[in-house]
Amino acid sequence: MSDWAPDVAKLVAYDDAEWMAVERAFCGRLLAYVARRVPDHDARQDVVQEVFLGAVRGIRLYDPAYTFEQFLFGICRNRVIDHQRRQKPLAFGGRSDEDAAALELEDLASDDETPSRVVRRRDLEAEGARVLGRIVKAWVQETWAQGEFQRLIVVEALLAAGWRNRDVWTRLGLRDESAVAGIKFRALKRLREIALEQGAERDLLAAVANALGEEQGFDLDLRRVWLAERASCPARHWLARHLAGTLAEGPAAFVRFHVDDAACPWCRANLDDLGALEDQAALAPILERVGLSTRELLRSKGRA
Ligand SMILES: [Zn+2]
Repeated sequence: MSDWAPDVAKLVAYDDAEWMAVERAFCGRLLAYVARRVPDHDARQDVVQEVFLGAVRGIRLYDPAYTFEQFLFGICRNRVIDHQRRQKPLAFGGRSDEDAAALELEDLASDDETPSRVVRRRDLEAEGARVLGRIVKAWVQETWAQGEFQRLIVVEALLAAGWRNRDVWTRLGLRDESAVAGIKFRALKRLREIALEQGAERDLLAAVANALGEEQGFDLDLRRVWLAERASCPARHWLARHLAGTLAEGPAAFVRFHVDDAACPWCRANLDDLGALEDQAALAPILERVGLSTRELLRSKGRA
């Protein structure tokens, strides 16, 4: 049912074979993500190479609360940003691998805070993001299991894609605007119920909501977490079935919305990669290049 994931203990031990398996499994989808953002062919390969090197350097910081693909795509996103910044005349500072592995939620801290306050806020926000992410994922799974794909689409449009009620109503063909508001109201209610069911983190959740200013803050935070946690991304095998046209209409409609309307960059990269699978031979040169640089780094890590 679940997609292939590496043995992280072997990766932490800098095991050559496991890292090569990671490269074979993920090179295509990373390249597909980069290809939509970096026009230059050689530069794309550089970026993908940097992603794997960054993964080796940062593997000890990998948090198993996230999928390995999330870990890699997180590094990939930052490497693409670094590349785009280098293309601009004004130079910005680069990022470390620690930054690359961290959640983008750190952007929330403002400059006028003391360092210890910032650290405390970041810890709270990172932990809060994890809790909220779990809650949203539980809701998505529950809704998916109930076959309520229309509800899933409406709520993702509102809470993750940031559509207004009116746009959801007209673009998704709902009865009227109050139907949209009703779906949103019930979804938020159910999300709060799930939060309560997970008991232990209730205080943390309240603290996070307060810290971010509950009035305009909560939806914004929910949206950020939804996207950062990839709360509604279907597993890769669902995307493969979507591509093969073997999904039932409900989940197919959701995948179409998620990829085309909500424009999820990660699922789009996976679909690009799956669509090009028969063309695996084209990946051979970059796999060879990436493999060489990774093995060199692994050897230096092994000696250290
Ligand atoms: Zn997605």
